[in-house]
This record gives sequence, structure tokens and C-alpha cells, in this order.
Amino acid sequence: MTFLGTSAAVPTADRGLPAVAVKREGEVVLMDCGEGVQRRVLSGSLGLGGDMTILITHLHGDHVTGLLGLLQTMSLAQRREPLNLVGPQKLLKWLEVTSELLHIGLTFPIHFSTAKPGVVLRTGGFRIRAARAAHSVEAFSYLVEEFRRPGVFHPERAKSLGVPEGKLWSRLQKGKSIKLEGERVEPSQVTGPPRPGRKIGYSGDTRPSAELARFFSGCDLLIFDSTFRDSDREKAVERKHSTSLEAAELARKAKARHLVLTHFSARYTSVSSLVREARSVFPNTTAASDGLSIEVAYPE
Ligand SMILES: [Zn+2]
Ligand SMILES: [Zn+2]
Repeated sequence: MTFLGTSAAVPTADRGLPAVAVKREGEVVLMDCGEGVQRRVLSGSLGLGGDMTILITHLHGDHVTGLLGLLQTMSLAQRREPLNLVGPQKLLKWLEVTSELLHIGLTFPIHFSTAKPGVVLRTGGFRIRAARAAHSVEAFSYLVEEFRRPGVFHPERAKSLGVPEGKLWSRLQKGKSIKLEGERVEPSQVTGPPRPGRKIGYSGDTRPSAELARFFSGCDLLIFDSTFRDSDREKAVERKHSTSLEAAELARKAKARHLVLTHFSARYTSVSSLVREARSVFPNTTAASDGLSIEVAYPE
């Protein structure tokens, strides 16, 4: 995971507008597209031409205005690969109107899926679910779930079945059956039970809710709205955001493994007090910063 922008509403000298990227085996899932995201994409190792899915949480300028520039740059680079886009229905309208007015012709197709509670998309490596967030406009939270992985491979079982080491082992390891002298060998004969994949949750802008605590249950990594310090909770309630303490309480309820706070209000020059508040409730908390990369560990 790489954090491309971690500020709320307005950028600061150190923080750009919201965007987070998940990268796995060449596939990229980009969550939100704050202004200037394309510079971050270009300077990182994400690439403009590969397998990409973009999830937009809601239609507030700070989360979406970077999308048009990113798509335009992809077109100038002659991208041909289709791109998956998920977001509220009006996102498509905004994109059609703005690209028409600015004469932006895309060189690649966009496969748009309307965000709604439940599974919204299956990509090469992930199942993507959405839930309703509690914000001032229609907004969604997303869960990016890696597909289950094949179980642990037991070489001694493969040997005892007479499967020669090499290509056939690797097929079985990947969960595919093979034929050996006319007999089928199933991967379950030589591997343990399938292992769960990794689960990454992204709240977007939201108040905490019981629904989201359920939705993010068991996340390996939870990225949560942390716009305000708890002494500014009134503002969080009024503007439909969360405090770092509320983010931590939700992470605890959801039994997440790791919490990353993001979307910090530009009023705080340092976020260390927000992190301290969160750690008092949920010790495994990190503050996001622009350019921060995290390797998400597999669950045990
Ligand atoms: Zn925002
Ligand atoms: Zn918002």
C-alpha cells in the first residue's frame, strides 16, 4: 500500500489530497483521486498502462478532481487497457460532462460500476465490496479483499503420489489439478486447506457507525477518516467526519489488525496528538504520510 495524499479538504506543504494505492502482482487499486494524484502515480512505481481499478468514495472535490488529469495523462501515454472505475452514479455524469467540455478523448474504455452496498467488482486478484458511509453527501467505504490463497504445499505427499518435481508441482501449488498417466491429481491431495487472503478497508469520509464496524470486521489493515482531534469532536460531528479516537474505537470493535489514520485537517501542523489519542485505545496505530508504503502481512 502506498499513501499518495493524506490531507483533508485542502493540501498543505507536506500533504496532498486523498489517494491511496494498493499494488499486488502488477495490479493496482487506487482509492480516491485527489488533485495532483497523477504526479504521485508517475513518481511512484504504479505505472499508467497496467491493470488498474479506481474506487471513488464520494463526490467532494478533494476526493475526485485528480481523476480527470490522471485519465488525460493515461490517454496522452496511449493507454489501451480498459480501466475499472467504481463510484457513486453521478461520478460517470461528472466525467462525461467535464471530458466533453475539455475535449478529452480517452484512448481506452472505462468499465464503470455503480457503488452500492455489497460486492461491486471482482478484479484479477481482489473482490471489492462497498458499504454506505455516514457523510454529508452519498458516500461509500470500500473493502479490498484478496482472493483465498491455495493451502500449504506438502512435497512429501506429491512425491508419494509419484508427481515429478517441476511444472506439475507448481500447477498443484497454484491450486490447479493435473493429469498423471491418465489419473487426475487434485491440489487438495497435496496441499493443506486454502488460506485466507489479505483484507484492506478504506473508510473515505465518514462518521463512525456500527454498520462500518461490522463491514471492516477482521481487516488486516484499516485506513480510517481521522480529520479531527478528539477535543474538536463537535466539528467532526457537524461536518460528518471522525476523530482519531473514534477511528481507534471502531478499529477495536472491528478487531482490525492495524489502523492507519489519514485525511488530517490542515489545522494540525503535527498529528502526533491524534496518534497518541488513538493508541490509547488501539495500540497498533500508524499515521499516514504522503509517500508512506506499508507491506500488508498475511493473517496467521
Ligand atoms: Zn474529504
Ligand atoms: Zn467529503
